Amino acid sequence: MIVYEAKAEATKEQLLKINELLRTALFVRNSCLRHWLDGHAKNGYDLNKYTKVLSDNPAFPWVSKLNSTARQAMAERAWAAIARFFDNCQKKIPGKKGFPKFRRFQTRLSVEYKQSGWTLSECRQFITFTDKFGVGTMKLMGTRDLNYYQISQIKRVRIVRRVDGIYIQFCVDHDRKEELEPTGKFLGIDLGLSSFYTDSDGNKVENPRYLRKSEKALKKAQRKLSRCAKGSKNRVKARNRLGIKHLKVTRQRKDWAVKLAQCVVKSADIVAYENLQVRNMMKNHHLAKSISDASWSIFTHWLEYFGKVYGRIVIAVPPHNTTINCSNCGHPVHKTLSTRTHQCPHCLYTDCRDKNAAINILNKGLELIKNTDGLSGIHASGEFAPCSKKVTSVSKSSRGKRKIQQ
Ligand SMILES: [Zn+2]
Repeated sequence: MIVYEAKAEATKEQLLKINELLRTALFVRNSCLRHWLDGHAKNGYDLNKYTKVLSDNPAFPWVSKLNSTARQAMAERAWAAIARFFDNCQKKIPGKKGFPKFRRFQTRLSVEYKQSGWTLSECRQFITFTDKFGVGTMKLMGTRDLNYYQISQIKRVRIVRRVDGIYIQFCVDHDRKEELEPTGKFLGIDLGLSSFYTDSDGNKVENPRYLRKSEKALKKAQRKLSRCAKGSKNRVKARNRLGIKHLKVTRQRKDWAVKLAQCVVKSADIVAYENLQVRNMMKNHHLAKSISDASWSIFTHWLEYFGKVYGRIVIAVPPHNTTINCSNCGHPVHKTLSTRTHQCPHCLYTDCRDKNAAINILNKGLELIKNTDGLSGIHASGEFAPCSKKVTSVSKSSRGKRKIQQ
C-alpha cells in the first residue's frame, strides 16, 4: 500500500459540509464504542452490523447521509481501538493499556471511504464526493500523478482535516519495490540523545532538534492563545496559528527522518537497530521533551519501510545491555550516563560509548538472523544474499507484528 496525499481546494461552503461529515463519522465511531461498552458487540462484525442499525434509526437522520462504506470504516476504527486494548492486556504491557476512549470533535479529524462514495475526474485532478452531504467537487493541488494507477487500485480514500486545510489521501494497492546493488556492508545503529545516532563504523549524525529551534515562537503563540478570552474569535485564530507552528515542526521532523532512513537503508545490506521502548522512556519527565523531539519512532518506522522497498534486512534488537557490554570481549562494563567513553578493564578495548553500543547491536542483530534462519557463517561466507527468501520472510513477519501493534 502506498498513500498519496494531496491538499484539496475547498470553498467555505464545502468546509462547513465537511465539518458536518466529519462530525457524523465521529458520531458513528463513538456510537460503536458505546455499543461495545454496553456489551452488545463481541467482534468487529457486530460493530459493522450495528452501523446499519444506526443509519436505519430515525432518531439519527444524519447517519444515513454518510456513505455506507465510510460508516463501516468508522466501525472498523472503533474495533481497532478495542482490539489494540485487548492485545495490550494480553501481552501484559506495563503501564496503561490504552482503554478506548470517546473522541471529541477537534481540528484533526478524518473519515475514510472504501471504493464507493467518491469519483475521480477523467484527468484525476478533481475529486467528487457523492454521498448525501453534498460536498461536491474539489480540486486536488500538488504534483502527484494519480494517472499511473488504475482506479480499482485505489482501495481507500480519506478526507483528513488539519489545521491548515483539507487533505485527501489515496491508499493505492501497489508494492513499491526497487532494485539495488548489494553493498556488502552491515550496520548497527545506536539511537541517542547527544547525537541522533551512532553507527557501528563510528559515524555520528547530529540531532536537528526542530522543537528546540522553534520553541521560542511556539511559546509566544501559546502565550497569545492563553491571553485570549475563551470562546472568542481571536482565540480561534490564535489556536490556529499555534497549530500551524506545531504542524511545521511535525513536518520538519518527518521530512528529515524519512530522508535519513532512506540513506541508511541504501548504504548497507543489513541494518540492526535497538527496539527502544519509547513509551516507557517518555515517563522520565526530564528527558521526555528531548526524546519526543528526537523522533526515533518515526525514523525506525521508515527504516522498516525502506528495508522492504529496497529488499534489505532491517532488524530490531531487544535493548538489553547493549551499552554495558564490551563489544570486544563481552564483559559487562558499567557506566553512568555521563561516561562517554567505553574502557574495558579486561581486554583494554577503548572506544566511544555509542559506537561500542552500535557494534553490540549489530552483533545481536546478526545473531538473531542466524538463529531464526539457520544461516550459519554470515560473517565468514560473505556471499550472503540479502534477497534470499528465508531472510526476507523474517523481516516480513516482524513487520507484520508491528502493524498489528499500530
Ligand atoms: Zn573487553
